[in-house]
Formats: sequence, structure tokens, C-alpha cells
Amino acid sequence: MDEHGGWQRTAAGAGLLAPDGSIAATIFAEMSALAARTGALNLGQGFPDEDGPEEVLEAAREAISNGENQYPPGRGIPDLRLAIAEHQKRFYGLTLDPDTDVLVTAGATEGLAAAILALVEPGDEVLTFEPFYDAYGGLIALAGAEHRTVQLRWPTFQPDHDELRRAVSDSTRIILVNNPHNPTGAVLDRATLELIVELAHRHDAIIVTDEVYEHLIYGATHIPVASLPGAWERTVTLSSGGKTFNTTGWKVGWATGPAALVTAVTTVKQYLTYVNGAPFQPAMATGLRLPDSFFRETAAKMQAKRDILADGLRAAGFPLSLPSASYFIVADASALGVEDAAEFCRRLPSLVGVVGIPITAFVHADRHPDYRSLVRFAFCKKESVLQEAATRLAALGRD
Ligand code: PMP
Ligand code: GLN
Repeated sequence: MDEHGGWQRTAAGAGLLAPDGSIAATIFAEMSALAARTGALNLGQGFPDEDGPEEVLEAAREAISNGENQYPPGRGIPDLRLAIAEHQKRFYGLTLDPDTDVLVTAGATEGLAAAILALVEPGDEVLTFEPFYDAYGGLIALAGAEHRTVQLRWPTFQPDHDELRRAVSDSTRIILVNNPHNPTGAVLDRATLELIVELAHRHDAIIVTDEVYEHLIYGATHIPVASLPGAWERTVTLSSGGKTFNTTGWKVGWATGPAALVTAVTTVKQYLTYVNGAPFQPAMATGLRLPDSFFRETAAKMQAKRDILADGLRAAGFPLSLPSASYFIVADASALGVEDAAEFCRRLPSLVGVVGIPITAFVHADRHPDYRSLVRFAFCKKESVLQEAATRLAALGRD
């Protein structure tokens, strides 16, 4: 037992400690702190620097004024659950019972945590793509599960189907999909999603799918796994209002799926946060009911931001993988003579006043060599910030 009752052993076992025994800050916290310290433009952590729709903000203010400030019901307020069900019908043709098939969570992160903790036993395998969003690694480790991965390789970041087939076995309890994908911005095609469903059936695995970027998609089509034939009964879908409505700090998300799986997730969720965000829940319902034009325009605006940053990165000499979705572009810094993107990202603020995140932060250590020179830049920022970042990055190419 260590000094504080074993927490360090638990944290170390889950790989959550730095080599010196201190808590390893997440890469996002570390890089945002670096941006704040140096005054650099923060294209690291993915959060927008502008507010979302006024109707949504106003609905939250009104809810606070109306006294909606106490614990909401455990599964979420009925009107938000109804709005989530309506959204799934409107965009994907899915019919959900708001009383049994919908759970409001403290962001998609709590949905992920509750789904993983509810559905795996220690020693079970959880399969993800790699690179993977950092919370996946931490949560799988905390659940005592084995984390297996299938590689997404530069520059298209699409999985090889044979590798995917080989990676799923009877030991696989969860196939954890992230589509659209962070950090690469890749969108999985129908054939890949159908293969995932087929493999889940063959090996009796559950699909947990994180679709938080479902509306930030540029020229591609988002196909929810749950909408494919044979998928619904074994799929938990996670999403969140943070990205769609520029409210990442509100942490209102949702898990949807068949009643049995949603109940399993609820069982754990009620002991994580119990509930959250009372006045933000009606505001999310307002957001989810905005007209189609809002969702189209949101994607179009974000696509324009993507293009500004992509042009800037190209002009600065970076080859890049143009993303079909999300907040992020992956660029290859090797063309600028960079071998180690992690070291480069630590120097970038002092070099040109820009922060990015090395892709090695999203992969297991033994995979670092495959992703060593890649950097993720976030484009969910004001156009003026992106233009300025592009100008600053161009100085790198001139040195
Ligand atoms: N999943 C992915 C892929 C993400 O990029 C993020 C983060 N922003 C989350 C989950 C977390 O979502 P939330 O803030 O709703 O918890
Ligand atoms: N999802 C955000 C990103 O990828 C960060 C969220 C967080 O800091 N946990 O940048």
C-alpha cells in the first residue's frame, strides 16, 4: 500500500502516472497550459473560441431563471430524452423509445466510462482503432480490460479489413468505434461499418460507438452504426451537444440503444455523476430541435475553417490529410525536417507562437515510431485566428 491508500498503484496500473510518479496531465490540459503560458495560438485542445446558437444559450439562461437548478431525473429530463429520440428519427430514421432507449450523460465521456465499466469484465478485450481519443486508453485500463487496436494509417486513416477481421475474436467484448474519428477526422465508409457489425455478430461482441462529430462532416455522409441492419440490438451510441452547439463546457451528452444495454449503462452512470447539468438539459433540447438549415450551416462554416487552415499548412510546406469531418487536421512535419513531433510541439510555441498536438499522444508507446512526425491541429477557431496561425506557420518553411 502506498502513502495514500493505493491510489498510485491503481493509477500506475492503468498507465495514468508520469515516469516520476506524478499524475500525468492529459495532453489536452498540458498543451492548453502551454498555450496560456506562452500566449501562443491554441490549435491544440479541440474547443471552439466562439459561442454557438443564441437560442440555445438563451434557453439555458431561462432555465436558470425558471428555477431548473436542482437534480434532474436520473435518465435526464423527459423533454431532452424526447428531443434526442426525435433527432435520431429526423437524421437517421431510427425509432427510439425516449423512456427506455435514451440516457442523458455528463458528456460523451461519462457515457463512455459507464458503457465500458458496465459491459466489460477484467481481462475482456476492448478493440479500438489507433490512434484513439485519449480517454479510451484510460477508461479501458481503469476497467481492467485489455486494449487491442487496429491501425489507421497516414494519409487516409482507413482500417485494413483483413487486419480488422484478425483483431476481433471471441475474447472481444466491445468494439469501440469512433466515427467521425478524433484525431484524424476520418469517416468510416459503409463497408467498414458493415464489417464491424458482421464481426460483432460472429464473436458476440457489443458495439459502443462514439459519434460526437456526427454533424461536423464535410462532403462525406455520416452513417450511424446503429442504423445498419443487425446493429441496433448490440449497439450503444454515444454523442454530445458540445461540438454541435459550441458548448463543450456544458458536458451534456447521451447514450442511446436498446433498453437492455441502456439500462446496463444507467446502472453504472447513476454512481458516477448520478445526474448533471439541470439547466443545460432543456437548452440541449432546444438545440436538437433547430431546423436542418442550422446543422447544414454549422458544417459549412466549419468546413470553411478547415480550408483556411489546410491552405495555410500547405503553404507552410506541410503535407496533410484533409479530414472529412471533426475539428482536426493531421499534418506531417517530416517535410520540415522534423523527426519527433512531440518534441516539435513543445518547441512550436516559442518557434512561431502556435500550439498543436503530436499524434503520438493518441497511440500506444510501441506504435510511436509509426506516427512520429504527425501533428494534429484544431481548426474550430475564429477565422482570424486560423489566418494568423497560417501566417505564423509559414515562417517555419522559410527558416
Ligand atoms: N469523444 C471524442 C472522440 C471526443 O473528441 C471528445 C471530445 N471532445 C469526447 C468524446 C468528449 O466529449 P464530451 O465533452 O461530450 O464528454
Ligand atoms: N476532445 C478534445 C480534443 O480532442 C479535448 C477534450 C479534453 O480536453 N478532454 O481536443
